[in-house]
Amino acid sequence: MVRLARLREALSVAEDDPDLVRSQLQAFSRQIPLIYFMLIVNTTAVAITHLGSAPAWLSIYIPVVLCALCVVRSARWWTVRHRVITDDQAAPELRKLIWLVGLFGVAFSSWSLLLFPYGTAFEQSQVAFYMATTMVGCVFCLMHLRAASLLLLSIVVLSFSGFLIFTHSPVFIAMAVDMTLVGFALAVIILLYYRTFAGVVHARRELQISQQKTQRLSDDNFRLASIDSLTDLPNRRSFFASLRAMSELALSTGDGFNVGLIDLDGFKQVNDIYGHACGDLVLQEVGLRLLELAEPGLFFARLGGDEFGILVQYKLSNEKLVELGARICEALSRPYRVAGNVAELSGTIGWAAFPEAGTTVAQVFERADAALYVGKEGRRGTPVIFSTEHETRIRRSSLVTQELRHADLESELFLEFQPIYDLFTHRPTGLEALGRWHNARLGAVKPEEFIRIAERTELILRITEILLHKALDEVSRWPCELYLSFNLSAIDISTSARARRLIDIVTQSGVPPHRVSFEITETAVTRDFEQAHSALTMIKQAGCRVSLDDFGTGYSSLSYVHRLPFDTIKIDRSFVTDIDSNSASKKIVKSVLDLCRNLGLECVVEGLETATQAEVVKTLGARAVQGYLFSRPMRASAVAAYLQTALAQADAVEAQP
Ligand code: C2E
Ligand code: MG
Ligand code: MG
Repeated sequence: MVRLARLREALSVAEDDPDLVRSQLQAFSRQIPLIYFMLIVNTTAVAITHLGSAPAWLSIYIPVVLCALCVVRSARWWTVRHRVITDDQAAPELRKLIWLVGLFGVAFSSWSLLLFPYGTAFEQSQVAFYMATTMVGCVFCLMHLRAASLLLLSIVVLSFSGFLIFTHSPVFIAMAVDMTLVGFALAVIILLYYRTFAGVVHARRELQISQQKTQRLSDDNFRLASIDSLTDLPNRRSFFASLRAMSELALSTGDGFNVGLIDLDGFKQVNDIYGHACGDLVLQEVGLRLLELAEPGLFFARLGGDEFGILVQYKLSNEKLVELGARICEALSRPYRVAGNVAELSGTIGWAAFPEAGTTVAQVFERADAALYVGKEGRRGTPVIFSTEHETRIRRSSLVTQELRHADLESELFLEFQPIYDLFTHRPTGLEALGRWHNARLGAVKPEEFIRIAERTELILRITEILLHKALDEVSRWPCELYLSFNLSAIDISTSARARRLIDIVTQSGVPPHRVSFEITETAVTRDFEQAHSALTMIKQAGCRVSLDDFGTGYSSLSYVHRLPFDTIKIDRSFVTDIDSNSASKKIVKSVLDLCRNLGLECVVEGLETATQAEVVKTLGARAVQGYLFSRPMRASAVAAYLQTALAQADAVEAQP
């Protein structure tokens, strides 16, 4: 039973293994012309030798028809030899082939058996030789088609051996036995060969599958290594790889491209107010909005934090670049509705063109960063294209940095003081210390400039220490009811150790801590809310006061202010400049004054230059003010004389009936 099943399997087509069947057909296809060549040559040779002895239908017509069939089949093979066989076509095709081999086997065997009786002993031997060689040749060519080769072997061996036995000639009988044994050996060879062939096909498939798996795995790893997991945008590494590739291509073709950097304005506040989970959702939404804008040749990437990169593969005119930038900014400034909150933020973009702005990856990136910097300083929420003016700024900035590093800051830095004035008592209540730097090579450098640059390089820590020492030195000479207001940078309170250092300097100076108020800007506290909170709390606990400087220029919401331990809020002078003509400014100042009153905070209105402005803010409820109207910042040496005059004037006003 088992043998029978094996035999049936050997003669059938492996329907469940289309891959194997396709490989069989492919391997066989290469042998087809050889089979027909053998058949035509051998048949023609036998037919020619029988021309005289056998009738014409046997020696001419039938061989001609058989050879013609071989030619037709060869021609067909030639026309379809490049066709791709699908899995569905493979099994029926193989079955058709087996039938064809069977028919050819029967046809050629029958012809030679019919021819056999006509010849002499030599010719009969030729027919037997013809049968044996053609069979062996064809069976070898059909090796890959196990069923077909076994079928052909059976047809030829059974028909011819049976026929030869009945000739009763000992020679032919010996031939029949010989042929049967050789046929048996051939069958074994076919079975063994086929098993190896099928094994190779299976092994190759396994290899392919495992290669595909490895490829998929490495594709996945590559994807993970080049995609930002939060936004699904390409990450920093991928951005720089593309930037490098683009610059190489541009250098070889002489074309150009554009690089953009986006920085979100107000993202830190979203993180602080609504939490990091909400911040992540906002970043995801930013990623989606950028992806919506992406098109062939325009790519976006997340470079880290709230910074994103843009690559424009082709050259754009400045107008088009601004237009594209405006489109991106517009998309980013739509409200973000995440986790039940509505967050408002915008994006500032810095653009740089390759090769105009820089001919290396580092240069062009740096220039885009410089343009972004300029945008962040004064044109938030808009695109800025790098220009030579920015270049001059960068040069100046590095010059100032160099000088700050090497100058004798102890002797070059000094302070000016500007009084903070009480509108009701007409007396100064404190003085704000404002840093000044007169450099041997650069001359007087504006505080906005050197402080901004020092903040970037951490040189500000040294500057703060030097200035704080100098300021405290002055305070000890002032009347004891006057306090010092001293400006800090974000870095000054960026660690607890730094905050402690400030407290130590105050304590060691002998000035009572309650006479010292530290000013910190909105943007500084929003850089790291938690850290700012703990540093300001430490400073408060040490007995000093803390003020929020330039209120209104950043993104602080009122609830935000309430969460930090401020004693004073200083309203930025930009709201005062047009307070007598602009009702919006008036409303803002009034609402901040009201808020401070409700929260029990002191409020200083900065930048009063005219008596009208002073009148307006007084009617709005302001008491503490500061501005050129009362005094410009003055040298430390001028403070004593100023105070004397100011206090005398106040006494005189008080004495008036
Ligand atoms: P700020 O702390 O808001 O200081 C007030 C600025 O406004 C000062 O400019 C002052 O001269 C100016 N100002 C005062 N009243 C008026 C007015 O009526 N009209 C106009 N137009 N301006 C007025 P300054 O001294 O140039 O300082 C600029 C900024 O630099 C300061 O703004 C502060 O943020 C920063 N800064 C100054 N000194 C230091 C310092 O020692 N450390 C740190 N970290 N920052 C400082
Ligand atoms: Mg200030
Ligand atoms: Mg201010």
